[in-house]
Amino acid sequence: MPFSARPSTYRIEAAPTGRARCRRCKQCLPKGELRMAITAFVRPGRSTLLYRCARPACIDAAFASAVLAVYCTASRVPAAQGVSDEDAARVRVTLENAALCDALARKGVLTAQVPLQSLRYGVHGTRPKRESLI
Ligand SMILES: [Zn+2]
Repeated sequence: MPFSARPSTYRIEAAPTGRARCRRCKQCLPKGELRMAITAFVRPGRSTLLYRCARPACIDAAFASAVLAVYCTASRVPAAQGVSDEDAARVRVTLENAALCDALARKGVLTAQVPLQSLRYGVHGTRPKRESLI
């Protein structure tokens, strides 16, 4: 039975161990380092957890736009317990700046309004490729 791909959910958190790797730079995230946890939909009842450094280098424009497409504003992106307000605010500003760059880059580049969702997941109802999960 076909199903619709669902958007990922995102959370700001501090790495509890030093074992996870950033999905973008592939470096290990040191324990205590701020990161974005991504719960990516695979199929109904099945999701996978991915991580990214919360540094501007790894919060790229496409990623920030995907996050803001889910939460509308960066202030609504949830932070885990134990993340200070200052740290969460810093990550949210990074997200906002990166998404703004993306929006500006798209102006004039795309002639038609293409929903982000269809760009990311391809044909409605197909399973997203692992590489396309961000
Ligand atoms: Zn990284």
